[in-house]
Amino acid sequence: GNQTLTMIKPVAVARNFTGPIIQKITDSGFKICAMKMTQLTKDQAGEFYAVHQDKPFYEDLTTFMSSGPIVAIILEKENAVDDFRKLIGATDPADAEEGTIRKLFAESKSHNAVHGSDSDENAKIESDFFFSKLERH
Ligand code: ATP
Repeated sequence: GNQTLTMIKPVAVARNFTGPIIQKITDSGFKICAMKMTQLTKDQAGEFYAVHQDKPFYEDLTTFMSSGPIVAIILEKENAVDDFRKLIGATDPADAEEGTIRKLFAESKSHNAVHGSDSDENAKIESDFFFSKLERH
């Protein structure tokens, strides 16, 4: 697959990290195919993260992800899903490598600056969640 879906999460948007994060992403060879700022309802956040509905952090996760505007972006690059997950680093910024987006811009495991799709299949599902055909280039 050559596409992945990212979200810049509410705290990162609120702290004005949108620009620096996008700069880092495009400097790393990703092309932007679609992008929007939006705010999810709690139900929409719940739908996006449905795979986590039985996890203890689901309630906090969906509350947080609906707490303010996010920026959703479809990114294109060869090997997009794996290369983007390398670029963002470990889920918990304390474990993330130097230079990764989460090391640079995340506060904590729950406020970890960005999302990245974990498979080609989910990249497609998540891209379809945010964008219509007409919104992609
Ligand atoms: P993402 O899917 O956002 O890229 P990930 O694949 O690194 O993150 P997942 O295990 O899919 O992590 O968890 C989804 C999101 O839920 C994480 O990004 C994080 O914000 C939150 N999360 C995961 N585990 C915990 C936890 N133990 N406590 C709090 N929040 C968590």
